[in-house]
Amino acid sequence: MNEAIQGLNATYSNPFAVLLTGGVGGARAARSLREVFAGERLTLIGNVGDDESVHGVHVSADLDTVLYTLAGIEGPHGWGIAGDSFIAMDQLEKLGVDATFRLGDRDLATCLFRTGMLSSGHRLSEVTEHVRSALDVGTRILPATDDPLRTRIRIADGTWLPFQEYFVERGHRDRVVEIEYAGAEHALPAPGVVEAITAADIVVIAPSNPPLSIEPIMAVPGIRRAVIEKDRVVAISPLFGGKALKGPADRVMESLGLPPGNAGVLAAYEGLISNLVIDIGDAAELKTLSTSVEIHSTNTRLGSDDESRRFANWFKETFA
Ligand code: GDP
Ligand code: CA
Repeated sequence: MNEAIQGLNATYSNPFAVLLTGGVGGARAARSLREVFAGERLTLIGNVGDDESVHGVHVSADLDTVLYTLAGIEGPHGWGIAGDSFIAMDQLEKLGVDATFRLGDRDLATCLFRTGMLSSGHRLSEVTEHVRSALDVGTRILPATDDPLRTRIRIADGTWLPFQEYFVERGHRDRVVEIEYAGAEHALPAPGVVEAITAADIVVIAPSNPPLSIEPIMAVPGIRRAVIEKDRVVAISPLFGGKALKGPADRVMESLGLPPGNAGVLAAYEGLISNLVIDIGDAAELKTLSTSVEIHSTNTRLGSDDESRRFANWFKETFA
């Protein structure tokens, strides 16, 4: 091998990546991509628009879903902790509290810890780092912002709902007519976020819900500015045959006026992405999508260990 080629390999053999992530879809992408970008070469930037005070504790639903998944302890539906008990929730119900939003006992302990740390003046990013380290997760995860940023949903009858009331209590059945990311305009990126994006060779947008999980991250002006500067931004589609695997992504995108299928994902990320990865089952859409974005198709299911590993190998061959 001549020196020039060796030099080239040296440049590309150690790339850094940033993954913008929501909850379940993002956690699955994080689990796969940490096989490609080991240890410090991957930084996760997590959505905090879903954060909410529930039963008196600060719930960071998406950050915890990612942490539990990377720790290998996630519950059967992708959130919460596997095998958790619900004794505290049963007691709350006995006390007459509506516990539709059920936090398992161990999950509740994480939230109690977070609430205590925040009320004694620590930042969300510090708390997240503490939980990451305690759960022995090797990948760095930063909240998009330490400032309050809350996704609010306006439904067809005109009512504005806090995110978790729409999502959990009402089971995301309402038609969404408008979304607000309250506080985003004045939110500063958490420490390290802009530095990680700037240093990254590649920014990846997880197959998370575009308006509900990714847009609240991008709504932080400093983050949007940093991502727009990047040449290589790769989004992974959350859609299969135009539908989300779980949750309301396709319905919310439709009711916000985005085109159906991956054309909607392209529209949601217009001006932001250089590459879009769609599922192999939707490869026929390749012909219909007119865009300057480079489109790739492969199996984008990431649920099992085999699927996760296979996607990591494909991603490495294609981008890293
Ligand atoms: P939430 O915050 O827990 O609602 O989760 P996210 O916003 O991170 O992700 C929700 C999206 O993940 C849904 O639209 C799903 O279609 C998508 N999703 C879930 N599992 C997979 C998967 O294995 N592969 C892909 N490509 N998308 C997935
Ligand atoms: Ca979420």
